[in-house]
Amino acid sequence: MRLQFQWKLMAFFILVLLFFLFVQGYLIYSLKKAFWFASLSSFFVAVLLGYILFKVASQPLRDLLNILKQMTTGSQFKKEGQVYSKDELSHLTRAISELEIHLRNKIDEISTEKEYLQTVLRGMSEGVLVVNDKGHIIMINDALRELFSLSMEVIDRTPLEFIRNAELEGAIQEAIRDGKNSSFELTLPSFSGKTFEVNVVGMLSSEKFHKTGEGMRGAIAVFHNISRLKELEKIRQDFVANVSHELRTPLTTIKGYAETLLEGALKEEVAFQFVQVIKRQSDRLAKIVEDLLTLSKIESKEFQLKMENLLLPELIEDVLNFIQEAAEKKKISISLELPAPLMVKADRNYLEQILINFIDNAIKYGREGGKIIISAIQITQSEIEVSVRDNGIGIPKEDLPRIFERFYRVDKGRSRELGGTGLGLSIIKHLIQAHSGRVWAESQLGEGSTFYFTLPCS
Ligand code: ADP
Repeated sequence: MRLQFQWKLMAFFILVLLFFLFVQGYLIYSLKKAFWFASLSSFFVAVLLGYILFKVASQPLRDLLNILKQMTTGSQFKKEGQVYSKDELSHLTRAISELEIHLRNKIDEISTEKEYLQTVLRGMSEGVLVVNDKGHIIMINDALRELFSLSMEVIDRTPLEFIRNAELEGAIQEAIRDGKNSSFELTLPSFSGKTFEVNVVGMLSSEKFHKTGEGMRGAIAVFHNISRLKELEKIRQDFVANVSHELRTPLTTIKGYAETLLEGALKEEVAFQFVQVIKRQSDRLAKIVEDLLTLSKIESKEFQLKMENLLLPELIEDVLNFIQEAAEKKKISISLELPAPLMVKADRNYLEQILINFIDNAIKYGREGGKIIISAIQITQSEIEVSVRDNGIGIPKEDLPRIFERFYRVDKGRSRELGGTGLGLSIIKHLIQAHSGRVWAESQLGEGSTFYFTLPCS
């Protein structure tokens, strides 16, 4: 192939030379006087032929140049009709153009893979951090930015600069140095005490590995936020501890009194009092179990409200008939402030339970001869606000945010004495939220409390 091209060029040059000599010789002999004219015309003919020859011979070079230009500018290469001649240079041009197509396909493949990777990283809820062999960050995903509220640019910095934790730093260094993978829990007080499950893996440098059998390219750390999980675990543990404690107290009393009776007190005069205590404590146990069952029912997925349009004043009157006796016992007066016959959208049974709980608490924690005011107003087009106000013992400021928690009681002894379980307000909160409402309380210690809640109106 290479020879073919050189022979062609040589043949062209010999032809041109022969032609030039022939024309010059002919003109000198036939037109002796016009020697200069003969020389000049021969020269022009030679230049013309040389130019044509150059054009033909350099075509493949121009093809090649075009392709190289397209490769460097990244413009699309046209596969067809780009290479015209069939000599060695054209073969080289074709080989380069094929290489260009191959390279372009490879680049497309790599770009597609990169896009996949970016999409996966974007879609991950876990934070991902990639460092190079010097421990400098080369990539992080959006989730990591969010988890650590990163506003600054962290590329080229070390993780230690924004996550100040020696364990994490040590794990990353070990992964880079020895390729050791590690998994551990990390609680970061400087990030609102968030807890993460962290997995650190070393990135193997394939080239080095094949040559020397060692060497890491960097490390990847994946952060899984398990703060909520930890929180729920803590709530569950506290709940189990609280339930056990609440059940143990009446159970111990019942057991103690029953044993005393069995040991002979049954025939004594105190037996009646002992049985009364047992009855009271078992009632208490039953109430705790009932409240716990109500809570678990409200929290279950199957829980559903039977929503209907209810006339609020009518419903409040029904509830008051039910609770009147308890109020009279403490000489507490109950008044209503209902400017209009408001209609609410609610489940009748549960709304009655909500109101009974609030009014019952207002009586329980109210003073002898005190007063309770129940009022309702329409606050927006779709919301009615109901409040129950008493002038009782009130709630200390520091306890106010916690009174809706399960088993939370300001004065444990007093609550138990009054037959409370510490679950009432937590049940109410769940019920109101199930109605898409809000609930909150205001209080002045020694002056009284007001409990507010909202309901949707029809
Ligand atoms: P309990 O069964 O103890 O009444 P709740 O969940 O109904 O439980 O209430 C939680 C705590 O909130 C009560 O123990 C009490 O300390 C406080 N509390 C509730 N309502 C009132 C009120 N109207 N006045 C003063 N304290 C109240």
